[in-house]
Amino acid sequence: MKIGVIGAGQLGQMLALAGHPLALEFLFLDSSADSPGARVGPIVTGPFDDPASLRRLAAGTDLVTYEFENVPVSALEKVSRTRPCLPPVEALRVSQDRLLEKELFQRLGIPTPPCRAVDSLADLRAAVAAIGLPCVLKTRRLGYDGRGQHYLRRPRDVGHAWDALGGVPLILEGFVDFDREVSIIGARSTHGETRCYPLADNQHRGGILRVTRAAERHLHRVLDHFGYAGVLTIEFFVQGGRLVANEMAPRVHNSGHWTIEGAVTSQFENHLRAILGLPLGDTSAVGHSAMVNYIGTMPDRARVLAIPGAHHHDYGKAPRPGRKLGHGTIVAATAAARERLLRRLLRHVSR
Ligand code: AMP
Repeated sequence: MKIGVIGAGQLGQMLALAGHPLALEFLFLDSSADSPGARVGPIVTGPFDDPASLRRLAAGTDLVTYEFENVPVSALEKVSRTRPCLPPVEALRVSQDRLLEKELFQRLGIPTPPCRAVDSLADLRAAVAAIGLPCVLKTRRLGYDGRGQHYLRRPRDVGHAWDALGGVPLILEGFVDFDREVSIIGARSTHGETRCYPLADNQHRGGILRVTRAAERHLHRVLDHFGYAGVLTIEFFVQGGRLVANEMAPRVHNSGHWTIEGAVTSQFENHLRAILGLPLGDTSAVGHSAMVNYIGTMPDRARVLAIPGAHHHDYGKAPRPGRKLGHGTIVAATAAARERLLRRLLRHVSR
């Protein structure tokens, strides 16, 4: 069986690595022929919205999935008329728009920051008056990791924020003074079987069990709402022991890289099992793990591998400032050992 993957970045590469033992083959679509996926499968080279490239991807595969969120929904809808396309296109459509995402969370009873759509300076003034300062103005689409957002602390920031971002559909959100951020990753199969991974940031902090249960409840609601198949991630702020949803990603996620060695079944294998309607694998942790992204430069491989319980992942990308080039994972028998080994790993990783 051959799986088509839109996007051949490291997430696609890790999906293929997880699928090879299951006798799955992969064909990628990416605008760049030397993406990380090229090392584990052939690539159809072309833009994500190019109908001819998408047709080639669909024609050569039995089922299409994606590892990248900015695939045009209309292009994916066309693919889904000829091949099963999972996770559902509707989940992608909602996740591409911060307003639709927050409105869905609210309809499902999942707390979010207060928010309002902003399409003009008058809307922005009205939204600031309703929500209050401080607040955050964001583009509804295509912003990520803090790009396309502007913080408003004082009344005079309103004009600056509008000058910086105005002209595209925006959302104003109340500022959440959070204690930390956590993400929950879960999988739902085409048969409706659902499993959640342990929360990414946790172990010995107070109230974690309550937070985990709430995150799982919220994740289940979203999975069931879409009749979802595949892996889904929701990112939350934790504020005074309460969860406030920030965003969701209908795909395998950077915060789940630890599951490759740190869980019985990785998020990548479970994504494949889920979209193929196979039984899902155990999501339990096998020890105490920590994952560190390698950004901009790679650490020396031999030094990392000299650390007991360390695993090294090199995506094979050309170094560039700010670029995720790989990651390292520590798996240890105890939380104390993990912290000690993590400190050793961090000494080799430029920050
Ligand atoms: P985002 O692109 O929405 O994931 O935002 C990137 C980062 O900005 C988040 O991980 C938070 O650290 C911060 N952030 C986003 N929205 C808010 C908010 N409403 N209140 C406080 N911090 C936020």
